Amino acid sequence: MSMFADIPVGVGEVYSGERIRWQDTYVEFGGLRVQYKFELVKVRKMDEVVDGKITIIGPDIKDLEPQKSYSLGIFIEVAGSQVEEELEGVIERRIHEYTNYIEGMMHLNQRYDIWIRLSKKSFEKGLNSFHIIGKIYQRLFKSELPIIEKIQITFITDPEKVKEMYDYALKEYEKRDARARGLKDEEVDAFYGCTLCQSFAPTHVCVITPQRYSNCGAISWFDARASARIDPKGPVFRIEKGECIDPVKGEYTGVNDVVKMKSGGEIQRVWLYTAFGYPHTSCGCFEGIAFYIPEVDGFGIVHRGFAELTPIGVPFSKLADSTAGGRQVDGFHGISIEYMRSPKFLQADGGWERVVWVPSAVLERVKDFIPKHLVDKIATEKDAKTVEELKNFLVAKGHPIVKRWEEKAKAEAAAKPVEEKALPAVAAPEAAAEMAVPVSVGVVGGFRIILKNAKIRAERVKIVREKGK
Ligand code: SF4
Repeated sequence: MSMFADIPVGVGEVYSGERIRWQDTYVEFGGLRVQYKFELVKVRKMDEVVDGKITIIGPDIKDLEPQKSYSLGIFIEVAGSQVEEELEGVIERRIHEYTNYIEGMMHLNQRYDIWIRLSKKSFEKGLNSFHIIGKIYQRLFKSELPIIEKIQITFITDPEKVKEMYDYALKEYEKRDARARGLKDEEVDAFYGCTLCQSFAPTHVCVITPQRYSNCGAISWFDARASARIDPKGPVFRIEKGECIDPVKGEYTGVNDVVKMKSGGEIQRVWLYTAFGYPHTSCGCFEGIAFYIPEVDGFGIVHRGFAELTPIGVPFSKLADSTAGGRQVDGFHGISIEYMRSPKFLQADGGWERVVWVPSAVLERVKDFIPKHLVDKIATEKDAKTVEELKNFLVAKGHPIVKRWEEKAKAEAAAKPVEEKALPAVAAPEAAAEMAVPVSVGVVGGFRIILKNAKIRAERVKIVREKGK
């Protein structure tokens, strides 16, 4: 008999990747409409956990008004003779996977940023209590990670209690992240990979190194190492680094080989520390996006919680559409907040010297890791709401990017052939038009044509079948 025979809806990998639209939603937890939400796993001593216990603080699902968004805290405490604190991050990340296993439930993002929807259909089938969800979690955790001997779960929907626990959760995440700082990519033999997000982005493979934190910001190199040890056949695995081909861009033979295999051949190369060329793929769970602003030749950064427009006139959600899906898109790069604290952060593109705009909430979180001379030269939403305002701010503050513009202009002037200089000025295409955004032309007879960095002019295109094929 299935271990879910008493559960009113289906449970299994087959339901992963299910999207639930607002009109099909019974209730929503977390997401943009709600300020306080979190999920947290803590490892406890054996005598501190009552196995199987499920507690609900606040109203249960059936007591909530439908078609509304609510605060939620999911607090899971686990114990086992082999369960170490190091595993908290990866056990916590499994909440994403296991929630998505439940028919009619969708879980996105992580930690302080969770976004969960329950469909009307599944509610009608009887999925109307956190007691049921808790039971599913407990069975999945214990069967998939047998080192967990005891597990107790608390769901908090009382907004005041969620807020109280939220601050505690933030401190716990910071403690975890701080543990992973200091170790360099050059000092380890192996990196780790994660394919947990392939249910939403089938070609995405996270490469987790000590200095390039996972996109979701929930799995450090130490977390990944612990996970691969206890569950070697699971979604987190070891990657032998192989030979370092380029230490500045961050290209390794071992990484290329594994990513090629795990992406089904779609991704051939990865440059870990750049947003151009062969950037790390972006799934959809990234905490933030580094986006190239061609008019200033610099990067803006925006996080998921930023509800206003960025200076290029689009919100996070629009940028996320251009970034997500397991692709390598030049100039649109999914990142975690912790990666912004790394010395390798966009190292090949100029690092922080190339960053021109960051929401004040993010700046506050990372400012101790930004070179001192740059902190007040980077604009926030308080300084610039348009590209024009941004340009003025950068000039007024003497941001190093301004020198870059001057050098680029000088180099371009010197490189122009004499005849060209004599030509009347023609409206030159903005650098944006030249940006190397890969264009998928479509699927033609079973293969996909991807044009990168391409300018094509043709009056006629003829595709002819090769002889003998
Ligand atoms: S963002 Fe990356 S590390 Fe995080 S769960 Fe997804 S694949 Fe794994």
